[in-house]
Amino acid sequence: MDTPSSAPDAPLDEALPDGDLLDGDLLDGEGDAPEPEIYDADVRRDDVDQDALKVIRRLRRHGHRAYLVGGGVRDLLLGVRPKDFDIATDARPAEVKSLFRNCRVIGRRFRLAHILFGGGKIIEVATFRRDPSDDPSEDAADDVRRNEDVDILIRRDNVFGEPHEDAYRRDFTINGLFYDSEDQTVIDYVGGMPDVQGRVVRTIGPPDVRFREDPVRILRAIKFSARLDLGIHPDVYDAMVAQREELARAAKPRLLEEILRLLRGGAAHRSFWLMWETGALGVLIPHLAVHLDDHSDDARRLWGRLDAIDALKRAGTLPTDAALFAALMLGPIQDATRGARDAVDAYESLMGEVVETLSVPRRMKERIRTLVQAQGRLASGRIGALTRREYFDEAATLYGIECHARGVPRPDWLEDRPAADKPAPRRRRRRRRR
Ligand code: ATP
Ligand code: MG
Repeated sequence: MDTPSSAPDAPLDEALPDGDLLDGDLLDGEGDAPEPEIYDADVRRDDVDQDALKVIRRLRRHGHRAYLVGGGVRDLLLGVRPKDFDIATDARPAEVKSLFRNCRVIGRRFRLAHILFGGGKIIEVATFRRDPSDDPSEDAADDVRRNEDVDILIRRDNVFGEPHEDAYRRDFTINGLFYDSEDQTVIDYVGGMPDVQGRVVRTIGPPDVRFREDPVRILRAIKFSARLDLGIHPDVYDAMVAQREELARAAKPRLLEEILRLLRGGAAHRSFWLMWETGALGVLIPHLAVHLDDHSDDARRLWGRLDAIDALKRAGTLPTDAALFAALMLGPIQDATRGARDAVDAYESLMGEVVETLSVPRRMKERIRTLVQAQGRLASGRIGALTRREYFDEAATLYGIECHARGVPRPDWLEDRPAADKPAPRRRRRRRRR
């Protein structure tokens, strides 16, 4: 079956690797493959996607190694329903394609195989790869510790590698585990299993280095901590704070996407509290951080709005991205435009900075303005013609979010509308009267 280097058939070792494992020679990637820790996995087979299991079985029947990997494994071990199931294998993309009719190879720079199933389900199959920088990470770590201005931002692509290298290139130990679905074991090169058990977010390798290589990882640490209710290791937390300015160097669309994920993840309150607390918010949306630093009633309402968003997520009625962003920025926008001679101007100069730092699409920026502008009309109760606007539902959702934050009852019209943010009761209604 597998070659000894992957050691899936190594004797079961129940002992936890000691916590200092990470500071060792994890990242040299040369010479003999290190021995992973192998754990019996407490995963119910029914919780694993059957199509993912089929893909793994077929790859193995053809002599390849194949494991579940990444967020799916982490979530299974934490008892959370995984969003998706990714597979890592030693088969090259072309080999994967030759084994599956329903396979599409994607990616110009790093090629991945997507296996397509009914209902739009995609199982992603990636060949084991490694970080291409021969970068002896300990040297880079020394430079970072000495505070030398080294540029280690990852710009190059990964290249094929061994399973242990594939584990080391990942961001956090909890995300670096392989699940062997045949043996029902977890293969752990990175000390991830003790961190799953201890419910802690810890980088693979030195945190300062890993955040400078890719500052978006700072937002990912916040996301995992908030969404999965995990602690952040103190050294990792300190590095997040120390490296937060690096966020300004990350690709802007990635930053926007991660901010939206924080809003959509069901833990928006905790996420943005951590954003504020670590100073990441001050780098990415300075106006919002300054607004919160005020500790005014206005500022406090942000937490209420984020609670409302988390409740909508639980109810399965997540607002649109524009409504989410509007709820995030409502305080600063209202501050800037209230009493301004030219409200549009005031809005543009506030949002100009956000648009620039996060590359918010122009359409979304305009939509946010429309939604915020509509709030005055909605508050006056004279909703009349507004109900016929195509943005009415979104604006009303934002209004409902603000009602929650202010602790005021929702007006009748909000209750009566056939709204996106009200799952039940599901009454069929005729179109609104013209
Ligand atoms: P989610 O449940 O939010 O999808 P995830 O862990 O699956 O969480 P993905 O963005 O889907 O996150 O990435 C899949 C895997 O790829 C991660 O678990 C991690 O191992 C690796 N990964 C993703 N982003 C990075 C990164 N910036 N640096 C290193 N590894 C990463
Ligand atoms: Mg994922």
